[in-house]
Amino acid sequence: MLVLMKAGATEAQIREVCRKIEEMGYKAHPIPGATRTAIGITGNQGPVEAALLDDMPGVGECVPVSKPYKLVARELKEEGTIVDLGGGVLVGGNDLVVAAGPCAIESLEQALTIARSVRAAGARLFRGGAYKPRTSPYSFQGLGEEGLRILSEVRSEAGLKIVTEAVDRESLDLVERYADVIQIGARNMQNFSLLKAAGRAKKPVLLKRGLSATLDEFLMAAEYIMAEGNYRIILCERGVRTFADHTRNTLDLSVVPAVHRLSHLPIIVDPSHGTGRREKVLPLSRAAVAVGADGLIIEVHHKPDQALSDGHQSIFPSQFEHLMRDVRQIAPVLGRSIQ
Ligand code: PEP
Ligand code: MN
Repeated sequence: MLVLMKAGATEAQIREVCRKIEEMGYKAHPIPGATRTAIGITGNQGPVEAALLDDMPGVGECVPVSKPYKLVARELKEEGTIVDLGGGVLVGGNDLVVAAGPCAIESLEQALTIARSVRAAGARLFRGGAYKPRTSPYSFQGLGEEGLRILSEVRSEAGLKIVTEAVDRESLDLVERYADVIQIGARNMQNFSLLKAAGRAKKPVLLKRGLSATLDEFLMAAEYIMAEGNYRIILCERGVRTFADHTRNTLDLSVVPAVHRLSHLPIIVDPSHGTGRREKVLPLSRAAVAVGADGLIIEVHHKPDQALSDGHQSIFPSQFEHLMRDVRQIAPVLGRSIQ
């Protein structure tokens, strides 16, 4: 259930309703909206006794939630959530945000070279894994904490926000310390203990869709994070497994309007993992923006043939520039822009 406060409800009234909810043995999640605050209730096994809240000062109405997820649902918050990464970088607002960088951090020189080029082309975030979930245990597994130190240097040198993946509890603590956004990868989308830990983290989370996750499973994974109190979540479509073998995965762009309909969370698209092919990254980036994505995350490498991970899907810096030029032209068709 959720409690919709009246438009003019005071802070004290909102606090009082939250206190009452906690007294009933549940957790209260006050989510401010453009016109009114909604309070999500979690932790209840059966129905919540609405009568105890209905008459409280400032309460507009108590409404049952029709979906299995509560906090990520549009029902809780009509307008889209804008995730503020600081320094004027907002995900989910009018501006589209682009993250770009190599699949894996390989060296300071590699990271800085790529960061400077993507920054010049208009990326606001730098991506790059320090912990890599690889199919083979013999493949490059990432530089670990050394990679995170390189990422912080990139932040100060290139002035980009940093997004990087945490693969377990230990790396999560380190990633939270060094990065601006904690990435939870496709393979961990249903690692529920990791999701809960990310929910307790003080940094925003980029949650990638699992390789075979339905939309409900994807949103329930986000719900795990939110239920712990972290409301700053960015969803990411990165392709799902299908019978199609002309691409690495099938980029499910139809999930973008579906997410926007059901949830208030922003969603960005990863056409690099979504297609696995360098030449398909540009057309699918254009399509992602056209379908209404809130941003893109793109793998870029200055020497992709020597990349330690995902070189075949990494585009050259000059191709990234071209991509940014194209999406800047498409965005205004949807009433959006790119800073
Ligand atoms: C990545 O972003 O480099 C990555 C491993 O992505 P995914 O979890 O979507 O495979
Ligand atoms: Mn990759």
